[in-house]
Amino acid sequence: MGDSYDEECDYLFKAVLIGDSAVGKSNLLSRFSKDEFRLDSKPTIGVEFAYRNIRVGEKLIKAQIWDTAGQERFRAITSSYYRGALGALLVYDITRRATFNNVAKWLHELREFGNSDMVVVLVGNKSDLGNSREVDEGEGKNLAEAEGLCFMETSALENKNVEEAFLIMISKIHEITSQKSL
Ligand code: GDP
Repeated sequence: MGDSYDEECDYLFKAVLIGDSAVGKSNLLSRFSKDEFRLDSKPTIGVEFAYRNIRVGEKLIKAQIWDTAGQERFRAITSSYYRGALGALLVYDITRRATFNNVAKWLHELREFGNSDMVVVLVGNKSDLGNSREVDEGEGKNLAEAEGLCFMETSALENKNVEEAFLIMISKIHEITSQKSL
């Protein structure tokens, strides 16, 4: 642990986790973190964030990922939460349809406060709970396609597709950022 943290990185970017309460955002973040993450918080605005260094091709990228720390309902954090973010994981819970229905509301907020070219991955979490599923994988895929988002079903509990969901976002951001700097 730690070794890679202080390594010189080529660039740093910020990404955010959004979605209803209890869909699994903080569990996804801690899965992705393993021992490499350094958790930190800004109690004043009620968010937590974590860093991780990721190598994409030749570049070492430091991703700073923000989590709402249970403050989803407090609108006061909204603009500072989204400010400067290049990516978002928009998470719903496949066992609670209401959290999927609210994706539209989160997208609306994201488009109001976020960068217009933000990379968004729609994440259907808790795929291990297939027996209580209320949202089919195809519905998630269709919505993502219609909205121009990437899509992935994950299980933070079983550590399935978690790395992949973050890496899709990170490599897309890398793609966009490197095109811009050409
Ligand atoms: P947040 O409020 O969105 O940050 O959600 P949390 O990460 O705190 O998770 C809410 C609840 O869902 C907790 O009881 C977690 O243990 C549970 N949970 C999170 N991810 C999964 C998952 O992939 N599968 C299952 N079965 N439970 C999960």
